[in-house]
Amino acid sequence: QISPLLLPEMIEAIDQTITANAEEVTALDQEIGDGDHVYNLQRGIDALKKQEEALSQLDWVDAWQKIGMTLMSKIGGASGSLYGTFFVTMSKAARDQQMDLSVFADALSEGVESIKKRGRADVGEKTMLDVLAPVAECLKQAAADNAALPELLNKINQVAEQGVESTRDMVATKGRASFLGERTKGHIDAGAKTAQLMIAAVVSVIE
Ligand code: ADP
Ligand code: MG
Ligand code: MG
Repeated sequence: QISPLLLPEMIEAIDQTITANAEEVTALDQEIGDGDHVYNLQRGIDALKKQEEALSQLDWVDAWQKIGMTLMSKIGGASGSLYGTFFVTMSKAARDQQMDLSVFADALSEGVESIKKRGRADVGEKTMLDVLAPVAECLKQAAADNAALPELLNKINQVAEQGVESTRDMVATKGRASFLGERTKGHIDAGAKTAQLMIAAVVSVIE
């Protein structure tokens, strides 16, 4: 069982990786977006850092709800409302259930579905969904197979990295990058990259 007591450590790990990769990600977002993605995320992360003690005292359902509401109000840009909706939906999906891998996997899938709905987007459109959707799929499969945790964590990192790389040759059809159309080919999506970095940070805390 993975406890919300790990949340402060998870938030710190996310903060560190986003800071360490800030220049690289900003360069990506400048190439095909407006260059503010790291700034947007850092506003959300800073807000969560102020709440990390309080968050660690909640159960996952209440923590996700609080995280979602905070991200919605603190992050500007597309990523704020998308991640906000994501966590609020995960919270709703897991409510009144005994948390385990399968409940978590289902909640994650619902969260990904809510991003698709909110963003009117799907896999293959060069967004964070190209990382989040395959990772959610991977967890569902692992829950069904009763997979061992170390192998699962490895797999998650692998799938997330593949997801990032998959965005390189896609043409953006959603978000600001869509204004550039074909010219987005050859560039990795910044939001896919940060999704992968944040997932790897969470994995490193669980490992
Ligand atoms: P903005 O584009 O409003 O400046 P950010 O820079 O914070 O917001 O976030 C941009 C990222 O959000 C993109 O790189 C992409 O991964 C993701 N994104 C943008 N629009 C959508 C959408 N409609 N559906 C899913 N993800 C999206
Ligand atoms: Mg941007
Ligand atoms: Mg912006």
